Amino acid sequence: MLIDPHTHSNEISLCSRISLNDIVDVKKQAGYGGIVITNHCQPWYYVQNEHAEFMKKFVNVYKDGKKYADTVGFKVMLGIEVSINEPLYTDWLIYGLSEKDLLSSPCLYMLNQKELFEFCESCGAILVQAHPFRGEMRPLDPEYMRGVEVNCQPNDLKRKDDVIAFAKQNGLLLTSGVDYHGREMTMFCGMEVPDDTETSADFAKCLKEGKAKLFIDGKVLEI
Ligand SMILES: [Zn+2]
Ligand SMILES: [Zn+2]
Repeated sequence: MLIDPHTHSNEISLCSRISLNDIVDVKKQAGYGGIVITNHCQPWYYVQNEHAEFMKKFVNVYKDGKKYADTVGFKVMLGIEVSINEPLYTDWLIYGLSEKDLLSSPCLYMLNQKELFEFCESCGAILVQAHPFRGEMRPLDPEYMRGVEVNCQPNDLKRKDDVIAFAKQNGLLLTSGVDYHGREMTMFCGMEVPDDTETSADFAKCLKEGKAKLFIDGKVLEI
């Protein structure tokens, strides 16, 4: 089964131009079996003391999307993309947090890399640095992450070999995803996972066990 583990829907992500139900329809049509919905958690979305309220909405959007996806035989899994400022501005994908973990989480964008990593580890979740060579971003301390992402946006994909080299040097996992924000993003990329992958915790387990393969431009990338 092919999944796109990096997608944004416009009920939460202000930069997205497509609803979660429409992502389900478009991705199913394109040949995917599922997605991880990784909506943004960013400092400019809400103030710190509104985190719990924001997370309620965040989880409800996922639940509504999953309910629809279940009726059409498509998998929607719960992820998140958190932007932090310490030690540098960077974006982080998290796989394997439950609804409960998110609803009881501290304000995630306030954490630094090490704190975010420790929170993820305490929940059995995997912290992955998203598009680590985008713009001014660079891969941060490999000690406090589980993986790095080969992002399939054109400029990020040019740095594929650098991302893979960084992962190899540091014993990190690799993911790949589209960073889907709208219908024009037709690149056929993601991860090939076992058919029984149902939740983002299952996906995290596949990653740890080496059962998820990078899928870039229509084929599995053997590494
Ligand atoms: Zn975005
Ligand atoms: Zn993203």
